[in-house]
Amino acid sequence: MPSVEQLLTSIDGYREDMIGALGELLRIPAIGPENGGDGEFEGARYLRELVERCGFDDVEMFDALDERVRLRLRPNVVAKKRGSSDQTVWIVTHMDTVPPGDLDTWNYPPFSPRLVDGKLYGLGSEDNGQAMIASLFAAKALNELSPAGRRTMGLAIVADEERGSEKGIKFLIREGVFRSGDIIYVPDYGVPDGSVIEVAEKSLVWLKVTVEGKQTHASTPAKGINAMKVGSRFMTFLLDHLAEKYGKTSEIFMPPNSTFEPTKRLQTVGNINTVPGEDVFYLDFRILPDYDAEEVLKTVKKIARLFEERTGADITVENEQTTSAGPPSPTDNEAMKALVSAIKTVREVEPVARGIGGGTCANLFRLAGFDAYAWQTVDEVAHSINEYSKVDNIVGDAKVFAVLMASLCYPSEFGLE
Ligand SMILES: [Zn+2]
Repeated sequence: MPSVEQLLTSIDGYREDMIGALGELLRIPAIGPENGGDGEFEGARYLRELVERCGFDDVEMFDALDERVRLRLRPNVVAKKRGSSDQTVWIVTHMDTVPPGDLDTWNYPPFSPRLVDGKLYGLGSEDNGQAMIASLFAAKALNELSPAGRRTMGLAIVADEERGSEKGIKFLIREGVFRSGDIIYVPDYGVPDGSVIEVAEKSLVWLKVTVEGKQTHASTPAKGINAMKVGSRFMTFLLDHLAEKYGKTSEIFMPPNSTFEPTKRLQTVGNINTVPGEDVFYLDFRILPDYDAEEVLKTVKKIARLFEERTGADITVENEQTTSAGPPSPTDNEAMKALVSAIKTVREVEPVARGIGGGTCANLFRLAGFDAYAWQTVDEVAHSINEYSKVDNIVGDAKVFAVLMASLCYPSEFGLE
């Protein structure tokens, strides 16, 4: 019977291979067309070869058609080690990166990875190369030690995460790759000591409010309608009303309440003695998953109508962006307990479940009816200049993924029951 010790030792033995594999990957740009790139095709070709060498039963490509890139396809790599049950434990990572920005500001060129003081620098190293390589070598270690499992172990390496996932996760969900009852881990969120597991998100709503009044001289305000006065009154009344009406709290979130904030405001008139005829401002809402974001939007529009009637101004509310949050994933089930236990074993920290303000692709799975958990150990340098991944985190997270998969897919083989 193989032991967890053996598993951890084989992962330590992969240290140099993991650095090498991630380094190779970072040399290949994988940027989506909306970000001015040509997609993930080249990176996927390299990855597929790598995945083929990791001992899976089958490796399948799911190519989404995309006319905007050179080869007209956005590749997704799906690898499986079959167990006696079809229920699959997935680790989902993404190939694509954001654009590098101003190349001159990088100390190490973004596509020429450099290992300095235990950190591998390069665009996409933390987001999401580290977790991809870690999950791949975790699976390799398991595949070398265990012939057959209870559940199926799956890795999905996807395209198009940075700009909406239409050709990546959403495409794979539509293709039926993930099945009801599957367990999903998305290592695309984390903190430096690996102690936070993201289990929920708030819905995000961005609104643009335009108040049209009537411009006039400031000495005769009654001849006009002061749009800024109407806008300000509307804004403060609205935000107080929303905070009260949608006032639930949830302890897994920081802050625990929904938030309703005015953010950007456009300049009104350029001089002091004119009553402005137009006021334009923006609102950023982060709403607990207990509430329906569409219903909040309806409330905003209802109050806008009230202020229109009361003031004679026109108030237009435009939806700049809405991302609804799926239901929080449970924290008392086997999926969560196995992750907590793997983190404790390897990282020796006591992990906590958290909800965040919004923004991971775990939410796409929750919206589609799956439980999804986001966890990894990172310095939170994704999307920044001089992005890096700590080699100790690649190795440590590979160990956590290996123990996690061992306890869910091979519990009797590893004595983890
Ligand atoms: Zn990411």
